[in-house]
Amino acid sequence: MITGTSFARQYEAAGTDDLRILVVGAGIAGVTLAQLLRRQGKHPVLIERSRDAETMADDEHAGYMLALMPMVDPVLDGLEVREDYRDRSVAIDRYTFHAHTGKTIRQDRLGGLLAQYGDYRGIARGELITVLAGTSCPVSFDSSLDAIADGEPASDTVPARVQVATGVHGDAPEMHEAEFDLVVIADGLNSHTRALVPGGESEGSVDTAWGGWVAWAPADDDTDQVDELWGEGFFLGAYPVKDGIGVFLGGPDSREPLGARRFAAEVRSKLTTLTPRIDTALTAVAEADDPYFWALRDFRSSQWTTANTVLLGDAAAGFLPTAGIGAGMSMESARMLAASLETTSSAQLPDALSRFEAVQRPRVEQAQTNSRQLAGLMFYLPRALAGLRGMLFRLVSLRTALGPIIDLLKHPAGPDEVRIPEA
Ligand SMILES: Cc1cc2nc3c(=O)[nH]c(=O)nc-3n(C[C@H](O)[C@H](O)[C@H](O)COP(=O)(O)OP(=O)(O)OC[C@H]3O[C@@H](n4cnc5c(N)ncnc54)[C@H](O)[C@@H]3O)c2cc1C
Repeated sequence: MITGTSFARQYEAAGTDDLRILVVGAGIAGVTLAQLLRRQGKHPVLIERSRDAETMADDEHAGYMLALMPMVDPVLDGLEVREDYRDRSVAIDRYTFHAHTGKTIRQDRLGGLLAQYGDYRGIARGELITVLAGTSCPVSFDSSLDAIADGEPASDTVPARVQVATGVHGDAPEMHEAEFDLVVIADGLNSHTRALVPGGESEGSVDTAWGGWVAWAPADDDTDQVDELWGEGFFLGAYPVKDGIGVFLGGPDSREPLGARRFAAEVRSKLTTLTPRIDTALTAVAEADDPYFWALRDFRSSQWTTANTVLLGDAAAGFLPTAGIGAGMSMESARMLAASLETTSSAQLPDALSRFEAVQRPRVEQAQTNSRQLAGLMFYLPRALAGLRGMLFRLVSLRTALGPIIDLLKHPAGPDEVRIPEA
């Protein structure tokens, strides 16, 4: 359960730790890391810009659906929340691919393909945060990182001097000076705070010039079935979660001014076949109350770590949601970072962080490259070739399309690779 607490209170508790750690952003990566560190007996300070627990998990920016690949299983086991996860999610098996006309052209057993590696499940983001938080997860809301004192060489092991702002949504935020051995920047794809550290600039990020609206449709009987329809100038996806279906309707950025309702009507008029699921999904988008338009951009930082800072999750490598893997990799990275910190002293910290980056960054970038390859098929094919895409997808197996990600599942992350041997 997420509980609000003051920054001062958390900072006081951290003062007794050998490693004082600040985690900026209580999203999927930040909560996973904080909870894993708490299980090690540490007292990381977890701050979050949202006003409160409710907006953090379920405002227009946060309320969307996730399909989670099996790399999350060991993370959930490590937090002892696997059972709760299963209760709050649904198993996904069938992946149904529709042509640009709406006609179903193939159905694959994606869950079956992944089963040898673990679970493949659908869950609402807010529910996942609740699962990760377990019985108690203190967070200081309405707070952000304002500054990190610079001038310290990267090889130096002196703690980072930071300024944390609380009450950021009010007229007069309060500034707190503090010292941490490690600052973890986990404030998501559009991170503002990564600009405070070296590596926070982009190394070739991708902008598809597409985006899309998320809406919720009522659950149907096909709770294990994902539907995707890649059309001429639009994309529609329907992803089951517990007691509902998350719908994503995407199109070029130039269509955003039209609004969700009119764009949904336009898409409907282009389809010659309308399955009940697609019908319901388009109705849900048309009836959604002012849905948020998600920009489909990614981000790849040029460097993840310094001697006392680390970028984590989407702040380090933000994903296009084409392969449905960003949250999975964020959780895997949090697990690996927690392992690298488990027995590390402040003197060993720069070494531990370098190991973490050397092992985990190539894995994350491999998954990110796979997401980009899929984006190439989804967004950049000329409209006139939409039929060709249908043909291509009749021929290309899911195993091939997701090859680099399946390779990561075959060779799972090994926390022992990043653990510093105990002296
Ligand atoms: C529509 C959509 C569908 C997706 N589908 C999938 C999927 O099916 N499967 C999958 O694995 N991934 C999916 N993803 C990607 C996944 O959501 C991200 O990769 C994942 O959320 C990254 O976790 P994170 O903790 O880095 O960032 P987030 O979960 O975004 O968390 C960042 C947190 O930082 C907070 N914050 C922001 N700025 C500040 C600040 N200055 N100070 C303090 N806190 C701050 C935010 O409020 C937020 O709570 C999807 C993403 C979207 C948008």
